[in-house]
Amino acid sequence: MSLRFYDTSARQVREFVPLREGHASLYLCGATVQAPPHIGHIRSGVNFDILRRWLTYSGYEVTFCRNVTDIDDKIINVSAAEGVPWWQVSERNQRAFTHAYDTLGCLPPTVEPRATGHVPEMIELMQRLIDEGHAYAAGDGSGDVYFDVRSYPAYGELSNQRLEQVVPSADTGSDRDKRDPRDFALWKGAKPGEPSWDTPWGRGRPGWHLECSAMSTKYLGPSFDIHGGGLDLVFPHHENELAQSRAAGDGFARYWLHNGLLAVGGEKMSKSLGNSMLIPQMVRKVRPVELRYYLGQAHYRSTIDYSDAALHEAAAAYQRIEGFLTRAAEVLGEIAPAARVPAAFADALDDDLGVSQGLAVVHGHVREGNTALAAGDKEKAAEIAGELRAMLGVLGLDPLDEQWATGGDQGLREVVDALVAVALGQRQAARGRKDYAAADAIRDQLTEAGIVVEDTPEGPRWDLRRD
Ligand SMILES: [Zn+2]
Repeated sequence: MSLRFYDTSARQVREFVPLREGHASLYLCGATVQAPPHIGHIRSGVNFDILRRWLTYSGYEVTFCRNVTDIDDKIINVSAAEGVPWWQVSERNQRAFTHAYDTLGCLPPTVEPRATGHVPEMIELMQRLIDEGHAYAAGDGSGDVYFDVRSYPAYGELSNQRLEQVVPSADTGSDRDKRDPRDFALWKGAKPGEPSWDTPWGRGRPGWHLECSAMSTKYLGPSFDIHGGGLDLVFPHHENELAQSRAAGDGFARYWLHNGLLAVGGEKMSKSLGNSMLIPQMVRKVRPVELRYYLGQAHYRSTIDYSDAALHEAAAAYQRIEGFLTRAAEVLGEIAPAARVPAAFADALDDDLGVSQGLAVVHGHVREGNTALAAGDKEKAAEIAGELRAMLGVLGLDPLDEQWATGGDQGLREVVDALVAVALGQRQAARGRKDYAAADAIRDQLTEAGIVVEDTPEGPRWDLRRD
């Protein structure tokens, strides 16, 4: 079966044929860094990390570009409210995003360009558009530069609207001297006290849409394979990116992939709600790998309606996988990932990245593996465990992978292991002399210290307590 994706632009599933054989170029609209990320932001990161890993597994050399929007109205507002420079707000929140991506096991992009580092490229693109009659500088000297939507008949092709249906969106810029209210700002003329950069048309700052066209072209070329982002970016952001680049004569993205949004109680995540769902808060409820499992398990195009119950169910599902692989490693020693994933798993991911179907294959393997271990069939268990590691590697969820297995500090875990073993030995001794009060007290003290002990057939196992 061949790899295929649902392409928003074609409104159908299309076979993936890259521009250059053996190579896949991917652009993802990254963070606007006005605040630290909540799980809705990071869902996109996880979805496209799985895409990137699957492309790599499928033999493509992947160039992955994810931008950072480090100047915009919201960043300027935060900077004014806090009385600190805009770049301090951007810097701080970009670090929070990077930390969140790392925490959830998203591989770093090949390149992570910032908007303000690409002003010359944006000026060049605006010049091309002005020369071709697709853009104009406002005649009032404000420094605004607009895209002329009526000059580009295909405008609306991505979001499937005709020009007469298009409603001007709030972020199209001020209405200073526009030829048509639907024209959108490529460049926003400077207002007093705001950061600005020099251009042939006056001082100002980048429009959001222009940045992505300029940066994707710089790093991936005038034509590239896949453009990704959240479903809420289709219009106006991606429509405008496409119009700018195509009007300038570039082929631009050949496939458009959009991830569904994360809602709470059926509603889009609000800022106040988002504040309670920042990554540091969420990884106190479950471990980072369990949060990744939760965010990645649903089909990338579906809406996730967040609930604590669903999060904990996902954590329990992940623990079943982890439980088998941990026991298998205890019985079998080191388990090497298989060279290939099972065909059913490959078919699922080839089919528009069907992670939920892929996870069904994973859990089938876990059940079979547990049966094999219980029957003492080591050969079978080893084969299953190897295939599991291969599949989980593609999903970024392999419990035996260094990132998750060590929790970043294997040495400390070994020390705690030894201390817990001492405590459990004393508990066993207390039970032996029928001093149940003392035995219970030891368990209570461990719980108090944040350690949960579970008695398993292989002996007691401990973990850190999670709320
Ligand atoms: Zn973008």
